[in-house]
Amino acid sequence: MTSYPRIVIDAAKLKHNYSRMVEIGRTHGVGIFAVTKVYTAMPELARIAVEAGVEALADSRIENLEQLASLGVPRVLLRLPMLSEVDAVVRHAEISLNSEVTTIRALADAAARAGLRHGVVLMVDLGDLREGMKPEEAIEFAGEILDSPHLELKGIGVNLTCYGGVIPSTENLSVLADTAAAIEDKYGVQLAIVSGGNSSSIPLLQSSKMPKRINNLRIGEAVVCGKETAYLKELEGFHNDTFVLEAEIVELKHKPSVPTGEIGYDAFGQVPTFVDRGERLRAIVAIGKQDIDASGLTPLDSAITLVGGSSDHTIFDLTDCSASYRVGDVLRFRCDYGAMLRAFTSRYVKKVIR
Ligand SMILES: *Cc1c(COP(=O)(O)O)cnc(C)c1O
Repeated sequence: MTSYPRIVIDAAKLKHNYSRMVEIGRTHGVGIFAVTKVYTAMPELARIAVEAGVEALADSRIENLEQLASLGVPRVLLRLPMLSEVDAVVRHAEISLNSEVTTIRALADAAARAGLRHGVVLMVDLGDLREGMKPEEAIEFAGEILDSPHLELKGIGVNLTCYGGVIPSTENLSVLADTAAAIEDKYGVQLAIVSGGNSSSIPLLQSSKMPKRINNLRIGEAVVCGKETAYLKELEGFHNDTFVLEAEIVELKHKPSVPTGEIGYDAFGQVPTFVDRGERLRAIVAIGKQDIDASGLTPLDSAITLVGGSSDHTIFDLTDCSASYRVGDVLRFRCDYGAMLRAFTSRYVKKVIR
């Protein structure tokens, strides 16, 4: 018997989306790193990315990258390494993104101990205020990396639209391109990677306004959800239902829309408020906050609306549905990035590839 809740992954659609992303990149001289963190780097899915032609597999967690050895492409650690994990980093990632001198020196020592050479991408902050050195610091410090026998300066990169919501533009990415040129001129080297961001850089890429020197993007959400993240537009030619969450109805009853009795705190310490819409047909579905962010679910039956939920239960309103549901039926949803991240991380949600 099939067990629920589960995420059903359409392998053909995922392959299509990765191939399309690689093709868009190729048209503009940009290589793609597949960002695997949203699907906890399931090796079967990462392999699909590799088959579609991505240049590397990138993830924020070293435990995830550890699962991706032997897929034939470099592994890139996206989150700045913790000083406490540098030995694991040089073992399970060929490249890491970095912005701290102390950490980069510790990586060099770890690589020396392991008898390895570790690739470094120096992150430059162009205003989003998450990770990154100032451009002039990166230009200066690149020299020390180039001098280290245990490090290889792979290139530079930027992260935008993450903390500060800053949208990639010709102007801010030109600063990255200029920083690359300054490093190349100062030290007489050629940088392999000039990484212009994530899924929020796709609109700029497609409008051909990305500075020429940018030759890499690190892409997660666009491939997984079928949309870019600067303006949240669906991307043409991408599937948006590659991943479908399925959860089972465990109660289906007509109930009033306002609780009876004095209202105190709900299961998460909030005081709930209610709108009286009369009696409604309500389904309790066996999935909860431990497994998903319910506000990020889009029911495939568009007449279904979210009512609320707690740790293990989510309540939906089925009153307006033309389909008739019964206890034991399965509701299906598309997930936004946050909901998908949580569903993949929950060990109570099965993952099925078709
Ligand atoms: C998660 C992450 C990405 C991928 O971002 P998407 O918006 O999912 O494409 C790229 N770079 C870094 C540093 C990340 O942490």
